[in-house]
Amino acid sequence: MSANGLPKNADFIILGAGVMGASIAFHLARRSAGRIAVLDKDHAGSGGSGRSSALVRMHYSFPPEVQLALISLKVFQHWRDIVGEPGEFRKTGFVRIVHPGESEALKRNVAMQKELGANVQLIDRHQLQDLEPDWQLDDVELAAYEPDSGYGDGNVVANDFLRRARDSGAAYLSKTRATSFLIEAGRIRGVRTDQGDIHAPTVIAATGPWTRPLFQSTGFDPPIENEFHQVAILKNAPSMKPGAACIDSVTATYFRSDANDKFLVGDFYGSRPIDPDNFPQRPSETDLEGIIDRAARRLPKLESAEVMRGVTGVYDVTPDSRPLLGTVPTVEGLFLCAGFSGMGFKLSPAIGLVMSELILDGKATTVDITPFSPARFQEDRPIKADFEYKDD
Ligand SMILES: Cc1cc2nc3c(=O)[nH]c(=O)nc-3n(C[C@H](O)[C@H](O)[C@H](O)COP(=O)(O)OP(=O)(O)OC[C@H]3O[C@@H](n4cnc5c(N)ncnc54)[C@H](O)[C@@H]3O)c2cc1C
Repeated sequence: MSANGLPKNADFIILGAGVMGASIAFHLARRSAGRIAVLDKDHAGSGGSGRSSALVRMHYSFPPEVQLALISLKVFQHWRDIVGEPGEFRKTGFVRIVHPGESEALKRNVAMQKELGANVQLIDRHQLQDLEPDWQLDDVELAAYEPDSGYGDGNVVANDFLRRARDSGAAYLSKTRATSFLIEAGRIRGVRTDQGDIHAPTVIAATGPWTRPLFQSTGFDPPIENEFHQVAILKNAPSMKPGAACIDSVTATYFRSDANDKFLVGDFYGSRPIDPDNFPQRPSETDLEGIIDRAARRLPKLESAEVMRGVTGVYDVTPDSRPLLGTVPTVEGLFLCAGFSGMGFKLSPAIGLVMSELILDGKATTVDITPFSPARFQEDRPIKADFEYKDD
């Protein structure tokens, strides 16, 4: 151990203490895998995780994503038993509304999700109106409804996972930035940080939007682009009740209740490129008005809700909007877990599990994650689900 507390050696170095890095640390520590060092250039949850709208839903068009979401939901539901902390999962129900011409894809995806064990049902406009009397539904033919879904909290998830990993002996170094990888003869040997070097035979990068520059010396360029997003937090208008969370392709917004008297509205659209170290910390008022106007077409009571504040953040987006999970093709012992494209929160408990299986057993067995291989774009194998939506 050096004077600044940095261990000189570890068995596993995890870069990034967002929901992903913390979940991987938790799962490795659970299996008593060895000496784990988690490094964050800032602090746990300081990246996208702490800014996340944190919707939890099972609705995906690619089956492994549904499987990962289902495993994660169980962990959110049983957080106290599994992680030993109270947790912050709120079950509100979730509704997916697609474009009018996409009802057939919706039906196929719901059938696939049911087959995988999701509690989801197709509901028509009238059934949805009974559930959500305040919603304006003239343009909705069919929707998918998940009674068990809801939302969580990225800060809580990152910090709880990390706390349990540390209780099991993992070292956590905040304010420690990895500046490059130590590589010899195509094999990882550790990382160089702004506090000194740490040596380890296995390094996992869970570095979100900061991943690409870090990989410059590896001979592998992760295809991740950073996208700026804005979210409005409103005070509920009089008589507005907390309802189901919703992703709505027609208005290109998503929304959910936030605690008891607040409401959160987010946007499908973002702007690229954006520097994750230098982006507006407050949303533009004009942009928020536009987002709320669109969401108010679905939920007219939003027109009289007062905007309390906004949240901004950065998505790390890949060409097929799915994460890069697995070994880095050019460097043995280096693993990548990034590129979650605005959907990582809800998958994070399962991602830590499958990454720990891949690292320790050579293969993820709970869910096959080979389709998410970081090399898939070079190999011309982007993920394309059978019934994808236009805006998936
Ligand atoms: C506004 C917003 C809304 C979202 N809404 C949802 C949602 O509703 N549902 C959902 O499922 N997902 C949502 N997401 C996406 C989800 O939050 C992310 O996919 C997830 O948090 C990514 O976690 P992560 O651990 O990969 O990355 P991050 O949380 O970004 O963590 C990366 C960490 O790595 C550290 N780091 C980076 N580089 C280095 C380095 N060189 N050395 C040391 N440390 C480093 C950073 O400091 C950071 O703490 C949203 C994201 C945003 C921004």
